[in-house]
Amino acid sequence: MTHLSPLRTPAAAAFDPRVVKRDFPIFARHPGLVFLDSGASAQKPAVVIDGVAEFYRSDYANIHRGVYRLSARSTELYEAARERARRFLNARDAAEIVFVRGATEAINLVANSWGATFLAPGDEVVITELEHHANIVPWQLLRDRVGFTLKVAPVDATGGLDLAAFEALLGPRTKLVAVTHLANATGALLPVEAIVRLAHAKGAKVLIDGCQAAPRMPVDVRALGCDFYTFSGHKTYGPTGIGVLYARKAILDAMPPWQGGGDMILNVTFEQTTFQDPPARFEAGTPDISGAIGLAVALDYIDGLGREAILAHEAALTAYGVDRLSRLPGVHIVGAGQQRYAILSLNVDGIHPHDLATILDQHHIAVRAGHHCAQPLVDKLGLGATTRASFGVYNDESDIDALADAIVAAQKMFKR
Ligand code: PLP
Repeated sequence: MTHLSPLRTPAAAAFDPRVVKRDFPIFARHPGLVFLDSGASAQKPAVVIDGVAEFYRSDYANIHRGVYRLSARSTELYEAARERARRFLNARDAAEIVFVRGATEAINLVANSWGATFLAPGDEVVITELEHHANIVPWQLLRDRVGFTLKVAPVDATGGLDLAAFEALLGPRTKLVAVTHLANATGALLPVEAIVRLAHAKGAKVLIDGCQAAPRMPVDVRALGCDFYTFSGHKTYGPTGIGVLYARKAILDAMPPWQGGGDMILNVTFEQTTFQDPPARFEAGTPDISGAIGLAVALDYIDGLGREAILAHEAALTAYGVDRLSRLPGVHIVGAGQQRYAILSLNVDGIHPHDLATILDQHHIAVRAGHHCAQPLVDKLGLGATTRASFGVYNDESDIDALADAIVAAQKMFKR
């Protein structure tokens, strides 16, 4: 199976989510918690929490600077984390992995370094209606500075990307296509392989926002052939404050720094500064060292469960959720095209999503309500807001049953 053909009829997961749940201390602290907000941020397994703590206890020092052994050890662990991220994405070279604060920072880096250098008035950047604000706003900010045209590929009637309309937007002036891999507001999977092929045929670069895909499906940037790929550590069961930007080496080599400071320079005088090669060129200042180390543990954890197994588990859960919830009168699941994973956005007649989320919280069910940082999409669907349930490796069918029962209870309250 490739990253593009996830299971339509999922096999049984190779792990038991009830056993996996024991890996996550939060559920022992909050018995009865039904956590359905992993799309916003995933809970952390003990190995990640302990890995970060152990690093601070045993190996902590600043990196790349000290000649003493502790600093060398810390540097070694940080660079091993980079290698771990390389392996997670199957990048060719660890120098293609830049540590960032998260996907938001990664996309801002690409916009402000690559975009500000290589985009000019008359050029075109294509995004889609399914994007998170993190893949909209940086391009608008840059457009207003540079003067290129920002085009938006629409969703079709089912909520998936309209690939024909996307293709029609591409032309000789398209310099960049920036798309989400899996839409955070609806769970729609985008045909990223076809998108890369079509964009490259026009000579455009492709950035994929893998925030929602990386935690739940195999991602192979070399097979995909994309130019940039990004994800956030905190959604992949790792710490907050750390994320990954992958960029092809030749592209990174041609990109100027976007932030200046320590660690990214070769030589500084008051007249002139020369810069390190990537990735150091893009990591000015002291990075989130413990975050990178925690992220490496999280990626080990994910691959220990197996991304094929995670995908199969979450696909089965998604299918169960669609079936269970769509049987409830007055409940409407927002369309997500042909393939949907791990995220269900819904609306309940007569109950505002914020009211519903508050009532669900009284049943110890954590969901998200609002526009999910994808306001243009939610507005286009004519909704303004939705209630979103998103799944992780610790969820099972009983969580969806609890959600369904609590929705019915909320409907009864609102009928009174
Ligand atoms: N892109 C997508 C698809 C997301 O779901 C998110 C977070 O919800 C982001 C980007 C932004 O991620 P972060 O806030 O970790 O930078």
